[in-house]
Amino acid sequence: MKGWAAVSDFDGTITLRDVGDHLLLHYGFSDKKTIEASYSLKVRVEDFMKRAFSGATLSEEVIASFVRKKVRARPGFRDFALFCEAAGVPFEIASGGVDLYADPFFKKHGVKVRSFFGKAKVLRTGIRISYPFLKSTDLSSFKASRVSRLKNAGYRVVFFGDGPNDLKAAALADKVYAAGRLLKLCRERGIEASPLASFTRAVNFIKRNS
Ligand SMILES: [Mg+2]
Repeated sequence: MKGWAAVSDFDGTITLRDVGDHLLLHYGFSDKKTIEASYSLKVRVEDFMKRAFSGATLSEEVIASFVRKKVRARPGFRDFALFCEAAGVPFEIASGGVDLYADPFFKKHGVKVRSFFGKAKVLRTGIRISYPFLKSTDLSSFKASRVSRLKNAGYRVVFFGDGPNDLKAAALADKVYAAGRLLKLCRERGIEASPLASFTRAVNFIKRNS
């Protein structure tokens, strides 16, 4: 037994609101109905992201400034990342979001965490997104595979998430902190999960159970 490791979703988990959705709504490149439909368990988040951003004419600077002004981190996130680093707890982020908004977020909070984000390229007509780390798998299975990988390496894994595409990973984790739709899905399916209000409780949980 090597102790604990942590895997987290980004949008709506580390941030209080889904940054991709918030950007698309704020600048009028999508609407509430389309976004709501993207949360069906049948929709691949990565396909939705590619489609939704393909016509979003936003510059790198506009996005970075939006992140600095409007995107809020869930309380305790920075301390959790620093705790993991100090305590030797492997911590990684697996996300369907993109580097274009994740990079300014981490810069703002002064933390570096191993992470997997989509790569965004700003074009004249919109934003082209690719997910090199997915290869032939989908995002939901990829998240689950990050949890399995750490478990196979002998760790117990804490998972943090908020969306339907986090469900597979949550089902494999040893401890789940869930917000929003994921919390509801876990309850419906009998997957034990604690409500994710802040990351502080997870620090205490890991300390208590080490
Ligand atoms: Mg999310």
